[in-house]
Amino acid sequence: MKKHYDVAIIGGGIIGVSIAYHLAKAGKQVVLFEANEIGKQTTSAAAGMLGAHAEGEGHEDVFFQAGRASQALYEKLKVDLLHESGIDIRTSAGGIMKVAFTEEEKQALCRMQHLSTFKWLDASSVKKCMPQVTDHMLGAGLIEEDVHVEPYAVCRALWQAAVRYGADVKECTPVIEVKRDKEALTVRTTKGTFICDDLTVASGVWSGRFFEELGLSHSLYPVKGECVSVWNNGPALAHTIYHDHCYIVQRDSGKLVIGATMKPNEWQAVPTLGGMEAVIQKASQLMPSIKEMPIEECWAGLRPATNDRHPYIGRHPEDKRILFAAGHYRNGILLAPITGEIIRDLILDEPVKEEWLHAFRIGRKEALFV
Ligand SMILES: Cc1cc2nc3c(=O)[nH]c(=O)nc-3n(C[C@H](O)[C@H](O)[C@H](O)COP(=O)(O)OP(=O)(O)OC[C@H]3O[C@@H](n4cnc5c(N)ncnc54)[C@H](O)[C@@H]3O)c2cc1C
Repeated sequence: MKKHYDVAIIGGGIIGVSIAYHLAKAGKQVVLFEANEIGKQTTSAAAGMLGAHAEGEGHEDVFFQAGRASQALYEKLKVDLLHESGIDIRTSAGGIMKVAFTEEEKQALCRMQHLSTFKWLDASSVKKCMPQVTDHMLGAGLIEEDVHVEPYAVCRALWQAAVRYGADVKECTPVIEVKRDKEALTVRTTKGTFICDDLTVASGVWSGRFFEELGLSHSLYPVKGECVSVWNNGPALAHTIYHDHCYIVQRDSGKLVIGATMKPNEWQAVPTLGGMEAVIQKASQLMPSIKEMPIEECWAGLRPATNDRHPYIGRHPEDKRILFAAGHYRNGILLAPITGEIIRDLILDEPVKEEWLHAFRIGRKEALFV
């Protein structure tokens, strides 16, 4: 007999496990299918910045609002997850220091000055708290609330806690096909066939095939990011250093994570020498001493990008039993808690902010191929 669940989730990255956690905690019978190992694809490649301010373009827009809401959810989540899974998600204090080299960059940053969470520091104040930063800058915007977490730790904690609440998590179980008729949704995997009332596609950059199979146009493509980590043999960085998609993040293990390239439409998640060269070149302009530090490792990951840079979070326009949570691009770690809550609330028929449902809806024109 086929096993029946309330909700099936395809994909065990941070988005899929966040959904599993929130639904299992709310009492739903959940099954999650992961093709490989939990959290070992794009999620493991991330630096873990919760960059609501640093990544947003406008600071009144919907991305910023959702990002700030998700940052706030992390506050409670880190306490709950420690209790529920025994895993510390390693939230760091300090936030992000966004460096300006030109007057234009300074002006752009200072557009955040009306926010109580933003502080402009001139060059001498930057050097006082971060002597490692290059002398060749005008100053920096300090955003203390854009802290960072350890992405794989968050993913593992959500997974373990979801299992504790009864979720059935199946690794090495790729979903081959989803069939839908009036009575049921059927999920065929390499390890058997399952029936569910609701289904959420959360398979990162690989979600595209499910959009197509389920009759939807979409834009979803990889933007490869390459990173390198080094052992910091000097004083620890008080804040993440950030400029033009390049960042240096201090981990409490003593290493620095340096990222990342932006290579659209590259499907091979393998770092290249050229990529490493570009990352090291940019990072050493921010922090010259980095060139002397011993390399720990390098890696690459595929950011799931959409044309308008917003994720897809919501229901299939014609089949309410099917939901999508994919396309989180540079911000899946930041947006994992809010995504988990939105999908949970949709499935439980609880209210969700209209602006978010509208901005992240499936099939929106802004995200379609042109
Ligand atoms: C270099 C780099 C740095 C980044 N830094 C940050 C950062 O600092 N902050 C931030 O917020 N975000 C960051 N990101 C973005 C973030 O990593 C992603 O947005 C996030 O990991 C996406 O999570 P996901 O669960 O959607 O995808 P994934 O983690 O890729 O998970 C999808 C899962 O689905 C599985 N899957 C695929 N097909 C199937 C199938 N048919 N059946 C079953 N399972 C399937 C895959 O095996 C995979 O495990 C970064 C990304 C990169 C590459």
